[in-house]
Amino acid sequence: MTPEEIESAVEAGMPQTVEDLTRLVTIPSVAFPGHAEAPVLEAAALTERLLRSAGLPEVRQIPVEGSYPAVYGEAPAPPGAPTVLLYAHYDVQPAGDTALWRTPPFEPTVVDGAMYGRGAADDKSGVMTHVAALRAFQGRFPVGIKVIVEGQEEYAGERLEDFVEANPELVRADAMVIADCGNPRVGEPALTTSLRGMAAFTVEVRTLAEAVHSGAFGGAAPDALSALMRMLTAMHDDNGDVRVPGLPRGVFPGASDSEDEFRATAGVLDGVSLVGGGSLADRLWASYAITVTGLDVPTVTGAINAVQAVARARVTVRIPASGDAKTALDDVTGFLEKVAPWGVKVSFSDFVTGSGFQAGAEGPARDAVERALERAFGRAPRQVGQGGSIPLVATLARRFPAAEILLYGAEDEGAAIHAPNERVDLEELRRIITAEALFLAEYGAGR
Ligand SMILES: [Zn+2]
Repeated sequence: MTPEEIESAVEAGMPQTVEDLTRLVTIPSVAFPGHAEAPVLEAAALTERLLRSAGLPEVRQIPVEGSYPAVYGEAPAPPGAPTVLLYAHYDVQPAGDTALWRTPPFEPTVVDGAMYGRGAADDKSGVMTHVAALRAFQGRFPVGIKVIVEGQEEYAGERLEDFVEANPELVRADAMVIADCGNPRVGEPALTTSLRGMAAFTVEVRTLAEAVHSGAFGGAAPDALSALMRMLTAMHDDNGDVRVPGLPRGVFPGASDSEDEFRATAGVLDGVSLVGGGSLADRLWASYAITVTGLDVPTVTGAINAVQAVARARVTVRIPASGDAKTALDDVTGFLEKVAPWGVKVSFSDFVTGSGFQAGAEGPARDAVERALERAFGRAPRQVGQGGSIPLVATLARRFPAAEILLYGAEDEGAAIHAPNERVDLEELRRIITAEALFLAEYGAGR
């Protein structure tokens, strides 16, 4: 197929694409404990039908131990052609506080060319990107195709990673597309070339056998809460830069957004400054970031006049692709032990680590996808990083070091994923579908 034929096939398919996306977003496939299972299975069944409708000869649901089924489809490679793995997930984040939604989260609503609804972008737009790009070829695919659509990505766990380790042949491919990312802004194409890893732990400080009266003992009895606060604040300098030894600032090889744009997207209040030094890209994509994400302390309403005996904090560390999660965990916990005042008892528990990812600088798939994005968007893509983690990507990169891993998608930064009023811009979706179909054609013809 010529690029023009591909473009018009995608364009002609858009009404069907939007209709199918609407059906998917209507299903509350929240794969979190405490949410109904039936809708998740319903979304799996619909995903299976959609992949079948895309012309894949082999489509089936595959059980994943301790999780929801993955939906898998494949078509053999034409002689001499490479194979591409296409990944997305059909589960979604919970809707959260529905009062904050302007339209009901599971009643997809199109306003000003964008579809609003939970999962419209993350990642049912990814599911539809693959389905619609494949449909353009009407069963005559230019490359071998493997599609895997995961059923429990949003809820913490490593079930698909274990599945990949146990079934490497199902996902082995020359290029792997993770359609669970997006552009900085609608209409401005980008390839995500690095992901930060993460580590998290709980730190507990103990000072007394039990809490004691702050009038009778305060002033001499060591307060666990103030000890913990001193330790936590020691992790950053006055500028907000991480000052834990072993966690240096990195440099990202690409441009970042302006501070004004960042302030607007992050909702930083007037007069409040950003923290850290270096470019925004350096800070967000190539450097360590430490966040205290929870505290176990008495609440204000439950406060009594007492010196606390115990206090706990949850700490999350984001780790640049160049860093190692386990080493960073040791560096941070070691630092907290070192700065703990007054000989307080410090312990750590509930560790989590996940690796980051750095894409190779070049390759036939990377070249083909860059040309495809340029044609579909009318401008060359830039490379961006992502501050969050996608654990599956690290697993794929480790298991298949020769495969080229490509991250893109229709989840632009204004898509409000994991937040109220999630949306996908439907023109952006069309451009991403077009880019994916052009990429498959070009990559297949190139070898
Ligand atoms: Zn996602």
